[in-house]
Amino acid sequence: MDPKIIDWGTLDFSYKKTPYRFHARWKDGQWDHGKLVEDNMISIEESATAIHYGQQCFEGMKAQQSKDGKILLFRPEENGKRLQESANRLMMPEVPMDLFLKGVMDTVKANSEYVPPYGHGASLYIRPLLIGTGHNLGVKTAPEFLFLVFVVPVGPYFKDGFKPIKLKIETYFDRAAPHGIGNVKAGGNYSASLLPVMKAKEEGFNEVVYLDAKEHKYFEEAGAANIFFLMKDNSFVTPKSEAILRSITRRSVMEVAEKDFQLNVQERKIGLDELDNITEAGACGTAAVVTPIGQMGYNNKIYKFYADGNEPGPTITKIYKHLTAIQVRDVEDTYGWTVEVK
Ligand SMILES: *Cc1c(COP(=O)(O)O)cnc(C)c1O
Repeated sequence: MDPKIIDWGTLDFSYKKTPYRFHARWKDGQWDHGKLVEDNMISIEESATAIHYGQQCFEGMKAQQSKDGKILLFRPEENGKRLQESANRLMMPEVPMDLFLKGVMDTVKANSEYVPPYGHGASLYIRPLLIGTGHNLGVKTAPEFLFLVFVVPVGPYFKDGFKPIKLKIETYFDRAAPHGIGNVKAGGNYSASLLPVMKAKEEGFNEVVYLDAKEHKYFEEAGAANIFFLMKDNSFVTPKSEAILRSITRRSVMEVAEKDFQLNVQERKIGLDELDNITEAGACGTAAVVTPIGQMGYNNKIYKFYADGNEPGPTITKIYKHLTAIQVRDVEDTYGWTVEVK
């Protein structure tokens, strides 16, 4: 893939090999310094815990260019902290913050020609990954670990960009148990989602929204994005649950909604019985950014939000515009969320 001939405006969200990736290894109780490598293949023991017992976790971040050509990350330390939380839950060694940031920065810098130029709606997606390696057989934590970071230039996660999507409210499959691993970015959560998402796509939906596993009454989140709603009383509501992955985008959206747009922001349980009071809905995450949800299907009924689900609503539109402007510093980043890669 030659960066000189990439059509930045039509990129999809798919893997493409870039020249460099970062590898650091943990053994005998410590991390090495890590280094950039060119080979995109990794070699691990056939008995590695990552491939038998799902002892692995990951992160998703992105780098974008500002108008004046600076390469910007969005709140990278928050991803570093979350990877540590995931590691703790899965009994893996934490990647120290300085090693995490070095891995991310070095990989982005080494592949800087692949950071899409300003103004194409594309970005350089960054995938940090932590996996258990070394010889093992029984269910126990691995003797060795690999932390790696690779990057891929991508277009929007939902291919139509800022257009309303249609979600299926999943009434059979659960995403995560109340005290399971739904709150960490562990691969097992995503293998479990493949089947429900395939079925939902066959039924004409883009994705699914999961309900709480205990009562099937309250909204949780979509497969790889948190959700929020604008209600008839003008409040901004986002589900509260221990099983949700704490999205950094969501936290940012909540702050923007409250501080820049003076909305009454509530993180609380929100049930199916409130569907009729929703005026606008959105999905949020690094990949989805802020994507309007136009329709939700529940059993055999379709609920439509703003403009019969055909157009993004005014509030979600202004949140989207403001957040994406902050991310590339088109407006002043008063929150200090963007970090330049130098
Ligand atoms: C990664 C992810 C999100 C989004 O989190 P961000 O920090 O905003 O990228 C939301 N839900 C799930 C299940 C995720 O895996």
